[in-house]
Amino acid sequence: MATATADAKSRNGKQTATKKWVYLFDEVKLAEEAVGGSWDGVRALLGGKGSGLADMTRAGVPVPPGFSITTEACNEYSAKGQQFPEGMWEQAVNALHAVEVKAAKTFGDAANPLLVSVRSGAKFSMPGMMDTVLNLGLNDEIAEGMIKLTSDARFVYDAYRRLIQMFGSVVMGIADEPFEDLITEAKQKKGVKSDVDLAAEDWLRLTGEFKKVYAEHIGSDFPQDPYKQLELAIQAVFKSWNGKRAVDYRNAAGIPHNLGTAVNVQTMVFGNMGESSGTGVAFTRNPSNGDKKLFGDYLMNAQGEDVVAGIRTPISISNLAAEKKAVFDQFVDIVSKLEKHYRDMQDVEFTIERGKLWMLQTRNGKRTARSAIRIAVEMAEEGVISKEEAVMRVTTEHVLQLLHPQFDADAKAKARKDGWMIGTGVNASPGAAVGVAAFDADLAEKWGKAGKAVIMVRPETQPDDVRGMLASKGILTSRGGATSHAAVVARQFGVPCVCGAEALDIDVRNRMFKVGSVIVREGDTISIDGGSGEVFFGELVRVEPDFAREQYLRKLLGWADEFRRLGIYANADYPQDARRAREYGGQGVGLCRTEHMFFQEERLPIVQAMILSEPNSPEELTQLQKLQVFQHDDFYGILKAMDGYPVIIRLLDPPLHEFMPDHEGLALRAAGLRLMGDRPNELKKVEELMTAVEGLREFNPMLGLRGTRLGIMRPELTKMQVRALFEAACQLAKEGVVVHPEIMVAVTNHANEVKLMREMIVAVANEVQEAYGCSIDYKVGTMIELPRAAITADKMAEYSEFFSFGTNDLTQTTFGISRDDAEGKFLLAYVETGLLPENPFQQIDEEGVGYLIRLAVEKGRATRPDIEVGICGEHGGDPKSIAFCHSAGLNYVSCSPFRIPVARLAAAHAALKEKGYKA
Ligand code: PEP
Ligand code: MG
Repeated sequence: MATATADAKSRNGKQTATKKWVYLFDEVKLAEEAVGGSWDGVRALLGGKGSGLADMTRAGVPVPPGFSITTEACNEYSAKGQQFPEGMWEQAVNALHAVEVKAAKTFGDAANPLLVSVRSGAKFSMPGMMDTVLNLGLNDEIAEGMIKLTSDARFVYDAYRRLIQMFGSVVMGIADEPFEDLITEAKQKKGVKSDVDLAAEDWLRLTGEFKKVYAEHIGSDFPQDPYKQLELAIQAVFKSWNGKRAVDYRNAAGIPHNLGTAVNVQTMVFGNMGESSGTGVAFTRNPSNGDKKLFGDYLMNAQGEDVVAGIRTPISISNLAAEKKAVFDQFVDIVSKLEKHYRDMQDVEFTIERGKLWMLQTRNGKRTARSAIRIAVEMAEEGVISKEEAVMRVTTEHVLQLLHPQFDADAKAKARKDGWMIGTGVNASPGAAVGVAAFDADLAEKWGKAGKAVIMVRPETQPDDVRGMLASKGILTSRGGATSHAAVVARQFGVPCVCGAEALDIDVRNRMFKVGSVIVREGDTISIDGGSGEVFFGELVRVEPDFAREQYLRKLLGWADEFRRLGIYANADYPQDARRAREYGGQGVGLCRTEHMFFQEERLPIVQAMILSEPNSPEELTQLQKLQVFQHDDFYGILKAMDGYPVIIRLLDPPLHEFMPDHEGLALRAAGLRLMGDRPNELKKVEELMTAVEGLREFNPMLGLRGTRLGIMRPELTKMQVRALFEAACQLAKEGVVVHPEIMVAVTNHANEVKLMREMIVAVANEVQEAYGCSIDYKVGTMIELPRAAITADKMAEYSEFFSFGTNDLTQTTFGISRDDAEGKFLLAYVETGLLPENPFQQIDEEGVGYLIRLAVEKGRATRPDIEVGICGEHGGDPKSIAFCHSAGLNYVSCSPFRIPVARLAAAHAALKEKGYKA
């Protein structure tokens, strides 16, 4: 219990000289002064909701009067072992008296009562995570007084029972079910479906029954003293900051735990005072697709939770224009002002009390990736924000989400035709999801964490379900609209969601749902399309997204290209990869791994024969000539696809044993042949192959004969690759294609290796160019993927016109960790226990590997100032590693074609952040 109790003395709210813990909504200037003028500081102090209400009040928007108790008070309350900080209660009471004056009502006065809501509000919004109590200040006597004032007993007892229920569950921790069961029972007895059909006497009786439930669970009566109610409710909000579901949410959303929540105490306005009253939630633009059109739901004769809880299915906001034209026009006017004021799409809550509009809340609305991108682009085009801001507002996760797979249109049409579409609901969060149905959060979480694709199916979701929702591939509910809890959470985390699919008769107890004659049981596979709202039985085929049709993303990335300094290249081994890279905005190929060409089925026997031959023998030459034909076509294709752009071609890298059959398999075959004894020639061949494979065996193949070592030991192989490349380049040049090949040597350690390889490459290049009578603009360079290469980069640069950091190998060799052996065994445990901050194979280890990169860039440029430096390890597609590459002064990053859009944006973010722009 707090030191300041709600006794008669403290209600006088005597003045104390302590810190200011409480701000009236019209004291926003004082709050600004207290934090040195920054709005971010005001948000941190008063929370998002409190600062929004204060800001709206200042802007002249009709906001019911109230006050905020600061986040600092919440933190102090927790630090002091759950005691109100000194002076806080008195300040709250004073503020309440000021509100009484504004509202012309008195808290606790039966003749003219003021009722208040008590809500949490942290700096960052945490939808549905924190506790709210409405109608505070009601008791038996005041209820009677209000009936006299309103002549509406039904409304008063509905409000009173809501207070007892919310106070009971939120403040005192009683489960909702005993209350809800009583309502369900009352409706059943009366033979009605909706709460609206219950009359005054029903609510009066239920209020009495609720009080009994309260007393049975708590052991004392529901507090009749309004100040006691207020004190306990404030404490409950403070405590809810450290409640499990709030902590879980913060962990998932990356919100720090030390911010605390503010408490907002606000005059109640009622949307359930009959048919001229109502309540709703709306977004100023469509949070699902970004369309610039008011989007939301409302219900007449209802209170706020009725809209978001999904118990009654609400009506689209566009209907309000027909129903209450004047209110709708005023609403549109206010929200468009709010959007301009906050320079972002707003999510507002409003109530109409007997025809008068009140705004209860505004905040930047949560949105899907698609919506975020479109809104950023359109707001920049409308001149509301700059292009730079638009680029900063879109995250790399948004881009990844937008480029998620979708259902194949034909598969969908067929499924519809064949009767596998089992329902439709609200298209609440886009994306195609396939998974097995799980009917509660625990199971969804368990299955999800075990790697199963899960669709969580619930009648509606609640804050406690979030962990299950996050572990799921998709969410399906049978109740609630586009602003229901399920929809809001799903959109925020980019999980596909269909909600309010009313045809689904979900039976959670028996772990199944029925739609007509179709029964879907737990574990059955279903597919949901969060973009269209369709639900299918079974698994539907998914396809890659169509980047070409993403006009807003393309425009945004076009702006990003204006701001970034890093070039974006692709790792592409085949012409079709190169074409995709160009389509996604890549400006070159940063790594073409030629070994992938060798692995193709028809070439492998030739490659094996070449390996079996003696180096520099006529047999080797014969096989190499055969391979050259293929290589020529490969290089021709990829250089042509990248017309005008550089293509970095890496000479053969992997150890030769990778091209050979596995020794154990050969041994088994030999044993079989020996037993049969009828095919001596074949046995001889297999035995020769075994000897060859044996000869190629290495203890550490990754540190053995690979990369440049291979090219040096087999010079004819190197020459064949270079010849094929230059012949293709010359042929293309003659055809008018602009080619810029760059020949790259892998796994180098010593400058002498690069020197030798360079000489070999240049000799063949000259020979071919002379023969074709053409001159190709080309470069020779090396990968830097061993620590020694990085340390001696000044020497390496003498023979290299470019460096490309192979951070896969550089990470392996810097850490002395083999990725293939480590990730399955200990590396992930290292990351989970915090021994390593990140998996260094996903995100560059700046301290170690990054140090070597910076060193090599510096040393390389000291020798050759115009040396081109880039990265082609997998890190080239990771946003944080891209930011590092930007800061290390690289010229480009090269990544998988699919990651190019992400890389373009990440590179722009890095450049804009350097100029002071914030996300
Ligand atoms: C690297 O080592 O980072 C690299 C790109 O080469 P590979 O992954 O082919 O070894
Ligand atoms: Mg490598």
